[in-house]
Amino acid sequence: AGTLFIVATPIGNLADMSPRALDTLRQAAAICAEDTRRTGQLLSHFGIATSLVALHEHNEDALAQRLVERLLAGDSLALVSDAGTPLVSDPGFRVVRAARAAGIKVSPVPGACAAIAALSVAGLPSDRFVFEGFLPAKASARREQLARLAGETRTLVFYESSHRIEESLADMAATLGADRPAVMARELTKLFETVLDGDLAGLQARVASDDNQRKGEFVVMVQGAGDDAAAQLTEGKRVYALLGQHLP
Ligand code: SAM
Repeated sequence: AGTLFIVATPIGNLADMSPRALDTLRQAAAICAEDTRRTGQLLSHFGIATSLVALHEHNEDALAQRLVERLLAGDSLALVSDAGTPLVSDPGFRVVRAARAAGIKVSPVPGACAAIAALSVAGLPSDRFVFEGFLPAKASARREQLARLAGETRTLVFYESSHRIEESLADMAATLGADRPAVMARELTKLFETVLDGDLAGLQARVASDDNQRKGEFVVMVQGAGDDAAAQLTEGKRVYALLGQHLP
Protein backbone atom coordinates (compact mmCIF):
# COMPACT_ATOMS: atom_id res chain seq x y z
CA ALA A 1 0.00 0.00 0.00
CA GLY A 2 1.03 3.59 -0.47
CA THR A 3 1.49 6.19 2.26
CA LEU A 4 -0.77 9.13 2.97
CA PHE A 5 1.42 12.18 3.64
CA ILE A 6 -0.12 15.08 5.56
CA VAL A 7 1.85 18.08 4.34
CA ALA A 8 1.96 21.51 5.97
CA THR A 9 2.22 24.53 3.65
CA PRO A 10 3.18 28.15 4.50
CA ILE A 11 0.82 30.51 6.37
CA GLY A 12 2.02 33.48 4.33
CA ASN A 13 5.71 33.43 3.55
CA LEU A 14 6.37 30.92 0.76
CA ALA A 15 9.98 30.51 1.91
CA ASP A 16 8.55 28.52 4.85
CA MET A 17 7.81 25.63 2.47
CA SER A 18 10.23 22.88 3.51
CA PRO A 19 12.41 20.95 1.06
CA ARG A 20 10.77 17.72 2.26
CA ALA A 21 7.30 19.16 1.67
CA LEU A 22 8.31 20.02 -1.91
CA ASP A 23 9.77 16.54 -2.52
CA THR A 24 6.68 14.87 -1.07
CA LEU A 25 4.29 16.91 -3.21
CA ARG A 26 6.43 16.29 -6.30
CA GLN A 27 6.54 12.54 -5.77
CA ALA A 28 2.93 11.91 -4.72
CA ALA A 29 0.59 10.23 -7.23
CA ALA A 30 -1.94 13.00 -6.44
CA ILE A 31 -2.46 15.82 -3.97
CA CYS A 32 -5.78 16.23 -2.16
CA ALA A 33 -6.34 19.93 -1.63
CA GLU A 34 -8.98 22.01 0.11
CA ASP A 35 -9.00 24.54 -2.72
CA THR A 36 -7.43 23.23 -5.92
CA ARG A 37 -7.09 26.73 -7.36
CA ARG A 38 -5.09 28.01 -4.39
CA THR A 39 -2.94 24.92 -4.14
CA GLY A 40 -2.50 25.05 -7.93
CA GLN A 41 -0.90 28.48 -7.50
CA LEU A 42 1.43 27.16 -4.80
CA LEU A 43 2.42 24.20 -7.01
CA SER A 44 3.07 26.34 -10.06
CA HIS A 45 5.22 28.71 -7.96
CA PHE A 46 7.42 25.74 -7.12
CA GLY A 47 7.18 24.12 -10.57
CA ILE A 48 5.32 21.02 -9.35
CA ALA A 49 3.04 19.29 -11.85
CA THR A 50 1.33 16.67 -9.60
CA SER A 51 -2.42 16.37 -10.24
CA LEU A 52 -4.93 17.72 -7.71
CA VAL A 53 -8.06 16.22 -6.16
CA ALA A 54 -10.59 18.54 -4.47
CA LEU A 55 -11.25 17.88 -0.80
CA HIS A 56 -14.31 19.63 0.63
CA GLU A 57 -16.09 19.37 3.95
CA HIS A 58 -19.14 17.92 2.11
CA ASN A 59 -17.34 15.31 0.01
CA GLU A 60 -14.80 14.20 2.58
CA ASP A 61 -16.48 10.92 3.57
CA ALA A 62 -17.13 9.77 0.01
CA LEU A 63 -13.70 10.91 -1.12
CA ALA A 64 -12.04 9.17 1.83
CA GLN A 65 -13.22 5.78 0.56
CA ARG A 66 -11.93 6.43 -2.95
CA LEU A 67 -8.59 7.64 -1.60
CA VAL A 68 -8.26 4.57 0.62
CA GLU A 69 -8.80 2.35 -2.44
CA ARG A 70 -6.07 4.22 -4.29
CA LEU A 71 -3.71 3.96 -1.31
CA LEU A 72 -4.41 0.23 -0.96
CA ALA A 73 -3.67 -0.16 -4.69
CA GLY A 74 -0.19 1.26 -4.04
CA ASP A 75 -0.41 4.98 -4.77
CA SER A 76 1.16 7.37 -2.25
CA LEU A 77 -0.93 10.51 -1.81
CA ALA A 78 -0.42 13.90 -0.20
CA LEU A 79 -3.04 15.98 1.58
CA VAL A 80 -2.74 19.75 2.02
CA SER A 81 -5.04 22.56 3.13
CA ASP A 82 -5.05 26.19 1.98
CA ALA A 83 -2.46 27.23 4.55
CA GLY A 84 -0.58 25.77 7.48
CA THR A 85 -1.15 22.33 8.92
CA PRO A 86 -4.07 20.30 7.55
CA LEU A 87 -6.72 19.14 10.09
CA VAL A 88 -6.02 22.15 12.35
CA SER A 89 -9.25 24.11 11.79
CA ASP A 90 -9.07 22.63 8.29
CA PRO A 91 -10.39 19.55 6.48
CA GLY A 92 -8.68 16.15 6.45
CA PHE A 93 -9.74 14.44 9.66
CA ARG A 94 -12.13 12.01 7.95
CA VAL A 95 -9.59 11.04 5.32
CA VAL A 96 -6.93 10.37 7.97
CA ARG A 97 -9.38 8.36 10.08
CA ALA A 98 -10.42 6.24 7.09
CA ALA A 99 -6.80 5.66 6.05
CA ARG A 100 -5.79 4.61 9.58
CA ALA A 101 -8.82 2.33 9.85
CA ALA A 102 -7.69 0.62 6.62
CA GLY A 103 -4.21 0.06 8.09
CA ILE A 104 -2.55 2.59 5.78
CA LYS A 105 0.54 4.44 6.96
CA VAL A 106 -0.22 8.12 7.56
CA SER A 107 2.93 10.22 7.82
CA PRO A 108 3.29 13.93 8.65
CA VAL A 109 5.46 16.44 6.82
CA PRO A 110 5.31 19.14 9.49
CA GLY A 111 5.63 22.87 8.96
CA ALA A 112 3.82 26.11 9.67
CA CYS A 113 0.83 26.26 12.00
CA ALA A 114 -0.57 29.69 12.89
CA ALA A 115 -1.49 28.69 16.46
CA ILE A 116 1.99 27.40 17.28
CA ALA A 117 3.76 30.26 15.50
CA ALA A 118 1.63 32.75 17.47
CA LEU A 119 2.23 31.02 20.80
CA SER A 120 5.96 31.02 20.16
CA VAL A 121 6.07 34.85 20.11
CA ALA A 122 3.26 35.71 22.55
CA GLY A 123 5.16 35.60 25.81
CA LEU A 124 2.19 33.98 27.54
CA PRO A 125 2.58 30.74 29.50
CA SER A 126 2.86 28.10 26.78
CA ASP A 127 3.78 24.89 28.59
CA ARG A 128 0.06 24.11 28.65
CA PHE A 129 -2.52 25.64 26.33
CA VAL A 130 -5.99 24.99 24.95
CA PHE A 131 -6.58 25.34 21.23
CA GLU A 132 -10.16 26.52 20.71
CA GLY A 133 -10.01 27.22 16.96
CA PHE A 134 -12.82 29.48 15.73
CA LEU A 135 -15.48 30.65 18.16
CA PRO A 136 -19.10 30.16 17.00
CA ALA A 137 -20.35 32.78 14.52
CA LYS A 138 -23.61 33.35 16.41
CA ALA A 139 -23.21 35.86 19.24
CA SER A 140 -25.16 33.86 21.83
CA ALA A 141 -23.28 30.63 21.12
CA ARG A 142 -19.98 32.51 21.13
CA ARG A 143 -20.67 34.02 24.56
CA GLU A 144 -21.76 30.66 25.96
CA GLN A 145 -18.55 29.07 24.74
CA LEU A 146 -16.46 31.86 26.27
CA ALA A 147 -18.39 31.58 29.54
CA ARG A 148 -17.52 27.88 29.65
CA LEU A 149 -13.84 28.83 29.28
CA ALA A 150 -13.78 31.57 31.93
CA GLY A 151 -12.28 29.36 34.64
CA GLU A 152 -9.75 27.63 32.38
CA THR A 153 -6.25 28.03 33.82
CA ARG A 154 -4.32 27.13 30.66
CA THR A 155 -3.57 29.74 27.96
CA LEU A 156 -6.46 29.96 25.49
CA VAL A 157 -5.74 30.06 21.75
CA PHE A 158 -8.37 31.21 19.23
CA TYR A 159 -8.42 31.66 15.46
CA GLU A 160 -10.29 34.67 14.16
CA SER A 161 -11.02 36.39 10.85
CA SER A 162 -11.27 40.08 10.03
CA HIS A 163 -15.09 39.84 9.93
CA ARG A 164 -15.44 39.02 13.60
CA ILE A 165 -12.27 40.11 15.37
CA GLU A 166 -13.88 43.18 16.89
CA GLU A 167 -16.96 41.36 18.21
CA SER A 168 -14.91 38.45 19.49
CA LEU A 169 -12.52 40.67 21.44
CA ALA A 170 -15.48 42.54 22.91
CA ASP A 171 -17.11 39.27 23.98
CA MET A 172 -13.82 37.98 25.39
CA ALA A 173 -13.33 41.15 27.43
CA ALA A 174 -16.90 40.94 28.75
CA THR A 175 -16.76 37.23 29.56
CA LEU A 176 -13.17 36.47 30.50
CA GLY A 177 -12.37 39.83 32.11
CA ALA A 178 -11.31 43.21 30.67
CA ASP A 179 -7.96 43.08 32.46
CA ARG A 180 -7.01 39.55 31.40
CA PRO A 181 -3.55 39.56 29.72
CA ALA A 182 -3.88 38.76 26.02
CA VAL A 183 -1.89 38.82 22.79
CA MET A 184 -3.18 39.26 19.25
CA ALA A 185 -0.97 37.97 16.41
CA ARG A 186 -1.97 39.26 12.96
CA GLU A 187 -0.67 38.36 9.50
CA LEU A 188 2.19 36.22 10.81
CA THR A 189 5.08 35.77 8.35
CA LYS A 190 3.44 38.33 6.01
CA LEU A 191 4.20 41.96 5.16
CA PHE A 192 1.96 43.43 7.87
CA GLU A 193 2.86 41.00 10.66
CA THR A 194 1.84 42.60 13.97
CA VAL A 195 1.87 41.18 17.48
CA LEU A 196 -0.02 43.33 20.01
CA ASP A 197 -0.10 42.61 23.72
CA GLY A 198 -1.88 44.07 26.69
CA ASP A 199 -5.18 43.13 28.26
CA LEU A 200 -8.43 42.22 26.51
CA ALA A 201 -9.94 45.70 26.96
CA GLY A 202 -6.77 47.29 25.53
CA LEU A 203 -6.73 45.00 22.49
CA GLN A 204 -10.43 45.63 21.91
CA ALA A 205 -9.89 49.40 22.02
CA ARG A 206 -6.90 49.18 19.69
CA VAL A 207 -8.80 47.13 17.11
CA ALA A 208 -11.88 49.36 17.36
CA SER A 209 -9.89 52.55 16.79
CA ASP A 210 -7.56 51.38 14.01
CA ASP A 211 -8.96 49.96 10.74
CA ASN A 212 -5.62 48.38 9.87
CA GLN A 213 -5.72 46.26 13.02
CA ARG A 214 -8.93 44.64 11.73
CA LYS A 215 -7.39 43.48 8.46
CA GLY A 216 -6.00 40.03 7.78
CA GLU A 217 -5.86 36.82 9.79
CA PHE A 218 -5.59 36.61 13.55
CA VAL A 219 -4.62 34.36 16.41
CA VAL A 220 -5.88 35.64 19.76
CA MET A 221 -4.27 34.21 22.89
CA VAL A 222 -5.59 34.83 26.37
CA GLN A 223 -3.77 34.03 29.60
CA GLY A 224 -5.56 31.42 31.68
CA ALA A 225 -7.51 32.28 34.82
CA GLY A 226 -4.86 32.91 37.43
CA ASP A 227 -4.85 32.41 41.19
CA ASP A 228 -7.84 31.32 43.25
CA ALA A 229 -9.22 34.85 43.48
CA ALA A 230 -9.12 35.31 39.74
CA ALA A 231 -10.63 31.88 39.20
CA GLN A 232 -13.49 32.68 41.58
CA LEU A 233 -14.10 36.00 39.89
CA THR A 234 -14.22 34.44 36.45
CA GLU A 235 -16.42 31.64 37.75
CA GLY A 236 -18.76 34.30 39.11
CA LYS A 237 -18.80 36.01 35.73
CA ARG A 238 -19.44 32.70 34.01
CA VAL A 239 -22.43 31.94 36.19
CA TYR A 240 -23.67 35.51 35.74
CA ALA A 241 -23.33 35.23 31.94
CA LEU A 242 -25.20 31.93 31.90
CA LEU A 243 -27.93 33.30 34.16
CA GLY A 244 -28.21 36.35 31.94
CA GLN A 245 -29.36 34.15 29.09
CA HIS A 246 -32.22 32.75 31.07
CA LEU A 247 -33.41 35.92 32.80
CA PRO A 248 -35.58 38.52 31.10
N1 SAM B 1 -4.51 25.00 9.22
C1 SAM B 1 -4.15 26.37 9.52
C2 SAM B 1 -2.98 26.40 10.52
O1 SAM B 1 -2.26 25.41 10.63
O2 SAM B 1 -2.78 27.39 11.18
C3 SAM B 1 -5.34 27.19 10.00
C4 SAM B 1 -6.48 27.25 9.02
S1 SAM B 1 -7.83 28.23 9.56
C5 SAM B 1 -9.02 27.89 8.30
C6 SAM B 1 -7.36 29.87 9.14
C7 SAM B 1 -7.12 30.72 10.38
O3 SAM B 1 -5.80 30.49 10.86
C8 SAM B 1 -7.20 32.23 10.16
O4 SAM B 1 -8.53 32.70 10.24
C9 SAM B 1 -6.37 32.74 11.31
O5 SAM B 1 -7.10 32.70 12.51
C10 SAM B 1 -5.27 31.68 11.37
N2 SAM B 1 -4.15 32.07 10.52
C11 SAM B 1 -3.76 31.52 9.36
N3 SAM B 1 -2.69 32.15 8.86
C12 SAM B 1 -2.37 33.13 9.73
C13 SAM B 1 -1.36 34.13 9.77
N4 SAM B 1 -0.47 34.24 8.80
N5 SAM B 1 -1.34 34.98 10.84
C14 SAM B 1 -2.25 34.87 11.82
N6 SAM B 1 -3.23 33.94 11.83
C15 SAM B 1 -3.30 33.09 10.79
